[in-house]
Amino acid sequence: MGKVRILILGGTTEARRLAERLVARTDLDIVLSLAGRTAEPLPLPVPVRSGGFGGPEGLARFLRQEAISLMIDATHPFAERISANATEAARLADVPAFSLRRPGWEPVDGDRWISVANVAAAVEALGPSRRRVFLTIGRQEAYHFNAAPQHNYFVRSIDPVEPPLQVPDAAYILSAGPFTLESERRLLQAERIDVIVSKNSGGTAAYAKIEAARLLGIDVVMIERGTSAGLPAVTSIEAALDEIDHRLSPAMKRGV
Ligand code: NAP
Repeated sequence: MGKVRILILGGTTEARRLAERLVARTDLDIVLSLAGRTAEPLPLPVPVRSGGFGGPEGLARFLRQEAISLMIDATHPFAERISANATEAARLADVPAFSLRRPGWEPVDGDRWISVANVAAAVEALGPSRRRVFLTIGRQEAYHFNAAPQHNYFVRSIDPVEPPLQVPDAAYILSAGPFTLESERRLLQAERIDVIVSKNSGGTAAYAKIEAARLLGIDVVMIERGTSAGLPAVTSIEAALDEIDHRLSPAMKRGV
């Protein structure tokens, strides 16, 4: 019986973990796709292709050419364009697809969140007076904060913010995490941070700063997720594994 080909759209811890769980399956042939933004991505246990597909049509073409039987969108909850493309490409190529999306964080007692809808609103939420801001939203959208040069920024990202912020006071640290509560607490104190700007990414790897902010009574401007119509979603690796078996059993019985 031939192998069933699965495309995982990745760039996340979840995509990596899913690939790790699937790599030993002799009935499956996995290919994982990265956008190609990170200069040195961590090694992955399955074949990787890198770079954009060229919109939904390009992705649909890839699905057909590579004889993909199932596509799993395991991209970051804030990577909205590729997820919209995946929805459209699945329709165009008539390929089954679902998304794996970790749930967002929920505020708990002691959290001092200011929830906002997007990055521009996060800039506004910092207010007019000077604050010491820990900016942890990734490098691609950091430029929005050029609109608020009165603040003093401490920016953490995996790859450098290029070009750097056009503000008088900004320092940068390159780091990919995961981070521990203790190291985050130390960093917030050492850098005298009084507000964090974060995306509501969910998951555990980036959560320590949110916990540390709670312990220290620091404000968090939390950029919430957009509403995602689109592909049916599961929220855990286990559910994704079940979904794969469920979706592929007809194809496997046919001996595709
Ligand atoms: P995006 O705005 O949704 O996508 C922009 C374009 O990048 C897409 O139209 C697509 O190009 C290409 N692309 C994105 N993900 C791809 C993938 N996995 N494989 C191949 N092409 C991909 O995405 P983004 O926010 O720039 O994020 C880029 C990548 O970083 C994603 O894979 C995501 O999982 C990861 N990431 C994003 C964030 C975040 O906060 N946004 C955080 C952590 C990790 P074409 O239209 O040419 O196909």
